[in-house]
Amino acid sequence: MSNVYFCDFKASDFKDSKVEKIKRLFQKAGFAKFLNKDDLTAIKIHFGERGNDAYINPVFVRQVVDKIKEAGAKPFVTDTNTLYSGERHNSVDHLTVALEHGFNYTVINAPVIIADGLRSKNFRNVEIDLKHFKTAKIAADIVDSDSMIVMSHVKGHPMAGFGGAVKNLAMGCAPAKGKEDQHSFRPTVDTQKCIACGKCIKVCPKEAISYKSYGSSKKAFIDKNICIGCGQCVSECPVKAISIEDENDLSKFVERIAEYALASVKGKEEKVGYINFLMNITHDCDCFPFSDASIVPDIGILASTDPIAIDMASVDLINQQLGFEGTRLKDNHKPGCDKFAGLRPDNHGMVQINYGEEIGLGSKKYKLIKV
Ligand code: SF4
Ligand code: SF4
Repeated sequence: MSNVYFCDFKASDFKDSKVEKIKRLFQKAGFAKFLNKDDLTAIKIHFGERGNDAYINPVFVRQVVDKIKEAGAKPFVTDTNTLYSGERHNSVDHLTVALEHGFNYTVINAPVIIADGLRSKNFRNVEIDLKHFKTAKIAADIVDSDSMIVMSHVKGHPMAGFGGAVKNLAMGCAPAKGKEDQHSFRPTVDTQKCIACGKCIKVCPKEAISYKSYGSSKKAFIDKNICIGCGQCVSECPVKAISIEDENDLSKFVERIAEYALASVKGKEEKVGYINFLMNITHDCDCFPFSDASIVPDIGILASTDPIAIDMASVDLINQQLGFEGTRLKDNHKPGCDKFAGLRPDNHGMVQINYGEEIGLGSKKYKLIKV
């Protein structure tokens, strides 16, 4: 059984401010104990795609930076480049967005380093010897860091069901090649549904989609030999004409995520802390260039040294809420009902937790300790 420390968002004086709560959680969860003097400590964060505003506030990151420095270690704030085209596909664009979103030295008091290098080629092969991967490709600066604090915004995700600590570790610590290995599925177009809007063609980073003639009409067509399975077209299609052929593929995808999460912390398992933010709980992740309305109220902040326990506690707390009507939560509004299934009935989010526990990433059993 793992301890998960929790602060809700109720506040009546300065001691209840979110910045004070983050510092308190850091202390209670014992993160200072595993930080050694001069440790190069990665703070794994997602800077948010340009246009998104649900990412973790840099002022919150500053609190963690200061606590790490207080413990004598040397923090740097980090993420990896994306597989899909967008505003964070290489380090120059990525750092520009990070700066625009407030992740600069004046605010966060630490340098920002993109962990997989200029064009996502800076990575190491980490041996894990599991069902899907013998080795996983992990960003070199994550592997080289001595310790890590993983700050995750918990929200829905188009293919992983939801994103929390496990997803942040797995996809977030992998270079483009590692992200490609995790995706490894090939979507197809339902020509009956396709309205030939061209959106998928525009977003595909590999130019794998083109129009093909079907009688007198043209429809999108995916060349599976070129496709890298980034999934961008699946989320982009306005009429849901693009899907993953085999549903089972998605559960395997989520298993691959869990294996990559394990690889990301290999060798420093006892020197990683997790902070999950249960606020702005949106339908989609922060890779989207917009932020939708939250599906449940803001809940609070969690801290733990166990990524499975903290994600399990996050899911349980979200499910306990009364869902907001009029949002993208279409079902399961009542407290106790599965909110991520209310967003996507066929999601495989729990595979992250169940398979993650099976391969030794952490424990589903947790004790929630209110701080
Ligand atoms: S076809 Fe879709 S999944 Fe394949 S590379 Fe293009 S956008 Fe990504
Ligand atoms: S985004 Fe969807 S509807 Fe538009 S062209 Fe692509 S498959 Fe067709």
